[in-house]
Amino acid sequence: MKWIKNLESIAITKTSGKCPHCGSNNTDYTFVGNVGGVGYGEIWCNDCKSAYHLSRVLITKEYNLNKEIPKNIIYR
Ligand SMILES: [Zn+2]
Repeated sequence: MKWIKNLESIAITKTSGKCPHCGSNNTDYTFVGNVGGVGYGEIWCNDCKSAYHLSRVLITKEYNLNKEIPKNIIYR
């Protein structure tokens, strides 16, 4: 799982860290859903457009929530 370090980074620092594909620090993430419920997450790189989808995440208010997800991302 290429994005495991990014998941760890989000859990610990609330930032998404280095892109596992191109090494850029220009990554971002969002969790989508209502606080207290289960939603989903997306992590992406703004440079090479690589992205990762998390299908079930617990939504809590300390994370980036409901940000706009770029349209041209590639899941890999
Ligand atoms: Zn990248």
